[in-house]
Amino acid sequence: MYGHQSVRLLPDDYPQFFDRASGAYLWDVDGNRYIDYMCGYGPNLFGYGQLDIDAAYIDRMKQGDTMTGPAGLMVELAEQITALVTHADWAMFCKNGTDATTMAMMIARNHTRRKTIVLAKGAYHGAAPWCTPLRNGVVPSDRAHQIFYDYNDVESLEAAVREAGDDLAAVFASPIKHDTFVDQQDLDPAYAGRARELCDETGALLIVDDVRAGLRLARDCSWSRVGVQPDLSSWGKSIANGHPISALLGAEKARAAAATIYVTGSYWFSAAPMAASLATLKMVRETDYLERTQILGERLRSGLDEAAIRHGFSLRQTGPAVMPLIMFDDDPGLGKGYLWNDALMKRGVYFHPWHNMFICAAMTEKDIDDTLQASDEAFKIVRDAGAIPPVEKLAVLSKLTNAD
Ligand code: PMP
Repeated sequence: MYGHQSVRLLPDDYPQFFDRASGAYLWDVDGNRYIDYMCGYGPNLFGYGQLDIDAAYIDRMKQGDTMTGPAGLMVELAEQITALVTHADWAMFCKNGTDATTMAMMIARNHTRRKTIVLAKGAYHGAAPWCTPLRNGVVPSDRAHQIFYDYNDVESLEAAVREAGDDLAAVFASPIKHDTFVDQQDLDPAYAGRARELCDETGALLIVDDVRAGLRLARDCSWSRVGVQPDLSSWGKSIANGHPISALLGAEKARAAAATIYVTGSYWFSAAPMAASLATLKMVRETDYLERTQILGERLRSGLDEAAIRHGFSLRQTGPAVMPLIMFDDDPGLGKGYLWNDALMKRGVYFHPWHNMFICAAMTEKDIDDTLQASDEAFKIVRDAGAIPPVEKLAVLSKLTNAD
């Protein structure tokens, strides 16, 4: 199994194949049910198989899905998503998040007629040769014209921009620091504001990659929370609640550059995912999902903290409550975390030891309370295990990363 959906770097007993999903639950091929805190790595926002969204998808599929050109509802979707996202004056639709981030890079280079992009170290923007995390199969020219800075660090960003000199095409940024294996960080408004200024001073485009966090932190681009508007933003995952569609949104000033790059795909104009996205956006506008998931996330966070303390552990729960990353203090080899996650998995809770998780709107207070009860037993198992060695399989990861 390839990519991050492979379980090869998860605790040994994690299932690799799934049979069915409904609401907040997932069943593996052996029939075990899990409360799923990965939400398909992000797409599941309103619950797997959400009835209104899937009905819109199925109706549209019966009428015509992948056709010789787009259905009229592509225009309606563009109008609705640009009405929701403050900085957006136009929209382009594609399939994967990587399509959208790659288009953002091309549009910035086309707009500025420059080459260099600056990006935060460790941030994920997809799996094309220019951005995939491992270097196997990638040649140096795929990574040319890239300079890295530390997320949220104004001086480091300024240094990267200085180094790019008069060749700066774009500053890429994540909505928050949601890198794997490390504590998450919320967006520092000073860094966001400085990124905007630097782009304005140099004529480069500011790109926010909202593929993972989009619609989970705000009913707008995630940087709207600190009042900073990017020029381009990439979206995917939750915008159609799991149906395959992604989007690149842009400000007026980038419209001409967007209109003059050549990008397309056989499935990019399929109508059914667009119908699903329209139904999803309606629920974004008309339900209290954002507030509810926040409350559920906080219930989980405080319950876990309380249980950890009771068992003599200290947890590092970082990131927004709706996109939590949970690690143990004093666990550099992740042994405690792996044992705890494994014990939770065996009790019907699908957590992840080193990737941020997600709260979906189909979860209930009972799901959270069931999770807390399972966590109590899992803490006991970790406590009784005594000293736990580092996770051996993670050594593979450092070897692969060293190939960089
Ligand atoms: N950007 C971010 C922030 C992501 O989280 C992801 C997917 N995990 C991508 C880009 C790439 O999206 P996709 O896997 O759909 O190509």
